[in-house]
Amino acid sequence: MTTCAYLTGLVGSGIGPSLSPELHQREADRHGLRLLYRTLDLDVLGGGPESVGELIRVARTLGFDGLNITHPCKQLVIAHLDELAPQAAALGAVNTVVFRDGRTIGHNTDVTGFAQSFSRGLPGAAAHRVVQLGAGGAGAAVAHALLALGVDRLGVADHDPARASGLADALNRRFGGRRAVAVTRAELPGELAGADGLVHATPTGMAAHPGLPLPAGLLHPGLWVAEVVYRPLDTELLLTARELGCRTLDGGGMAVFQAADAFRLFTGREPHPERMLEDLAALVAPAREDLPHA
Ligand code: NAD
Repeated sequence: MTTCAYLTGLVGSGIGPSLSPELHQREADRHGLRLLYRTLDLDVLGGGPESVGELIRVARTLGFDGLNITHPCKQLVIAHLDELAPQAAALGAVNTVVFRDGRTIGHNTDVTGFAQSFSRGLPGAAAHRVVQLGAGGAGAAVAHALLALGVDRLGVADHDPARASGLADALNRRFGGRRAVAVTRAELPGELAGADGLVHATPTGMAAHPGLPLPAGLLHPGLWVAEVVYRPLDTELLLTARELGCRTLDGGGMAVFQAADAFRLFTGREPHPERMLEDLAALVAPAREDLPHA
């Protein structure tokens, strides 16, 4: 009997703490597959972001089946690929590369990951008017998913107003119409007052960036609140929103569904996201010694 074996990995900068190796390898174990998932950290390898092209060539030569791609290479990698799946082409960003029949194909599972997490975690949520904080890499993927899901008006706010207007313009070119608008700091209260939901796509709330990304007084019980941050799963924003009675969605779903979609692309096997969600929760749970004493 031949056993299928897969060689995969992640290219990016500062990816030592990534949970992707564990998520992919634990899922592969449950399928009885041999799968190795290696981190190819640019900071460790000593190459700049542009060395992603060389890494793609080497990985193909060494027989890798696929690679995930993260900051700062999601756009740079495109010049080194043979083909793009439609979502990756539309967004202009790739987080998954598959090596197949001598060709390299780029996909974007951040978009599909957020969309699945949203549908699973906030079923039936009204999404006519949504406000999104953060117009960086994660924000671009999430905003694309939200317009594809049918949001009528997406207000995009960012500390860097040029980023917010750049993302809104790009979305309107891609989707047609003027469904995306840049929202200034002064316009944020009014925009949130009339919104169905708030999506948070900045690093605020991670251990290195604690706190709230906006004044708590701007939240109201009529909003659902969705996070992209997943370390911790319960950010200060989600805890505050829940206290107010808002429906909430943590960032773990997006992380898991993007990994599950990449796993399917790498192996052709159908992943089990519910089990992967349990893995993620265990992996990000605070160690016992870090918990406050009762
Ligand atoms: P980024 O640096 O590319 O973009 C962050 C943007 O947020 C910047 O444009 C910045 O100006 C803006 N910003 C920061 N604080 C703000 C505030 N309070 N209000 C308005 N704008 C603000 O970062 P990124 O790659 O987009 O990542 C953002 C977060 O998303 C990180 O915490 C990352 O871990 C997380 N992430 C999660 C997933 C997932 O699968 N759940 C995937 C990718 C990224």
